[in-house]
Amino acid sequence: MRNIVLFGPPGAGKGTQSALLVDHFGFVHLSTGDIFRANIKGATELGQLAKSYMDQGKLVPDDVTIRMLEDSANAHPDASGFIFDGFPRTTAQAVALDAFLDEKGQAISGMLALEVPEEELKARLAKRAETSGRADDADPAVIQNRIDVYNAETAPVADHYRGQDKYAGIVGTGTIEDIFGRLKTAIEGLS
Ligand code: ADP
Repeated sequence: MRNIVLFGPPGAGKGTQSALLVDHFGFVHLSTGDIFRANIKGATELGQLAKSYMDQGKLVPDDVTIRMLEDSANAHPDASGFIFDGFPRTTAQAVALDAFLDEKGQAISGMLALEVPEEELKARLAKRAETSGRADDADPAVIQNRIDVYNAETAPVADHYRGQDKYAGIVGTGTIEDIFGRLKTAIEGLS
């Protein structure tokens, strides 16, 4: 059983590549951003809370996010492996995820980090805004805030997995197929 953290800044391609990895490896895909957006759409209390942070490009508080992620993972007791997308986004979330998996006799197999230059991220997000309907893609000030929050709070999560010898940087530019090929090779190399 492999459990993967797919890591990278906003616009790095985590959602696109996750879909391909699910098809190929049969992972259960857990995207905290997707789960929050589904809650917003369903007008739940959690959705209302999450929206107030997401629209500003801020992180949703750890306690809420961690509980939601654990509930979502527990809803798939027969999963043969998870791909975590957009989680963990803080070191506290990474520590919680490790403890959660450890209780089940499992662990993260590897963190695969998509590396994309900031200028390209901004261009991709601006383009995605044309079709995504996401308020947080439409405003350049919010995009900048998401990138700043990533650099300040999320990038350090890489050190957490580097410390466990589980970090692999993946070139996140080129065609979707090229990037998928790099991820596939990296995952096949994980035990
Ligand atoms: P992107 O990676 O393009 O920014 P996501 O869909 O992963 O998009 O996340 C959208 C927003 O959802 C984030 O900007 C943040 O407000 C919230 N969010 C998603 N995942 C987390 C998380 N693990 N912790 C806190 N907030 C999160």
